[in-house]
Amino acid sequence: MTDRDLIYLDNNATTRVDPAVVEEMMPYLTELYGNPSSGYRFGQQISKAIDLAREGVAALLGCEPGEIVFTSCGTESTNTAIHSALQMDRDRQHIITTRVEHSATLKTCELLAKRGVEITWLGVDSLGQIDLRELEKAIRPDTALVSVMWANNETGVLFPLEEIAEIVRAKGALFHTDAVQAIGKVPVNLAESKINFLSLSGHKLHCPKGIGALYVNRRTKFAPFITGGSQESGKRAGTQNVSSIVALGKACEIAGQYLKHEATEVRAMRDSFEEGVLERISFAQVNGDRAHRLPNTSNLAFEGLESEAMLMLLDQAGICCSSGSACTTGSVHPSHVLKAMGYSDDRARASLRFSFGRFNQRDEVSGALDLVEGVINKLRRIAAAA
Ligand code: PLP
Repeated sequence: MTDRDLIYLDNNATTRVDPAVVEEMMPYLTELYGNPSSGYRFGQQISKAIDLAREGVAALLGCEPGEIVFTSCGTESTNTAIHSALQMDRDRQHIITTRVEHSATLKTCELLAKRGVEITWLGVDSLGQIDLRELEKAIRPDTALVSVMWANNETGVLFPLEEIAEIVRAKGALFHTDAVQAIGKVPVNLAESKINFLSLSGHKLHCPKGIGALYVNRRTKFAPFITGGSQESGKRAGTQNVSSIVALGKACEIAGQYLKHEATEVRAMRDSFEEGVLERISFAQVNGDRAHRLPNTSNLAFEGLESEAMLMLLDQAGICCSSGSACTTGSVHPSHVLKAMGYSDDRARASLRFSFGRFNQRDEVSGALDLVEGVINKLRRIAAAA
């Protein structure tokens, strides 16, 4: 199967690699195979390519290149930030996070709780927003880290990140944000921010899978998660994934050029799809804060239906979308994000996520609407006849 047979509306799960990114990385998979740590010119040439990629990532984030550490994925970046905060101060072994985080944070914190780290879980309201006063009150003298995602992968809901970072800094704790879904979709400028750590992942912004980065503010004390050689200025050991790093640099450069397109074109596609669903399909509802949301994401509940059945028929119809996050597909549990928002099991199980990207075309919206309407009507007819 190729993507020519599909309408791909699952860009929060992963994205198509931009051909310009493939072109940029190819030499580093073929003739430019030197080790960036080697002292001779063939190695130094590779090291220079990594430096350039670091500059590309830093430019998108509005930070200094020296504040970027390349990792293997968003999950590793998040684990690294959490690990570092706990390592740096033995007297601070308390973490605050939210109930709607991606499993990269959620599972890591659950595991740490079993090892004696105290975790405060912040709930969200029906729009998916946290209460900033509750957050402020939860910060203690022994709080090592507050970790709050920038944008939710399931609903697209955006947290008021800069405000959160200010609160955390004023209370003297460190702040990490899982910005895996935000980077490349909304503008980010770390130069003036109070964020200590930020995680991002290449495959959400048209770069290959298996490459990520962690922003570590230059004044933030840091302990590496992966130890060994002195790569990445001693912040992440292991010979670098050069081709993917080069790819990430290019992907970030292109993402910067497309930020306006995300805010206009991609948003317009998402909005016309969402409005079309609400108009044409009865008992459909949007999950999450529509006013504070990524421009590309629409999480919709189709009352009375089960996401599993909808996904199966949509797959047969050639539409890729998802229920919950891709990482938990296969689990029968209703989405922890929608549950945390106070929705019933039925509503959570009746929900689908559609996420658009810059490779979608406007004419796919009407095609997707017809197919989604057909699938929902068919399932409702079956349910009514049963
Ligand atoms: N955080 C969020 C919000 C995500 O959506 C994802 C991936 O779905 C991750 C972290 C994990 O990123 P990676 O797949 O690069 O480990």
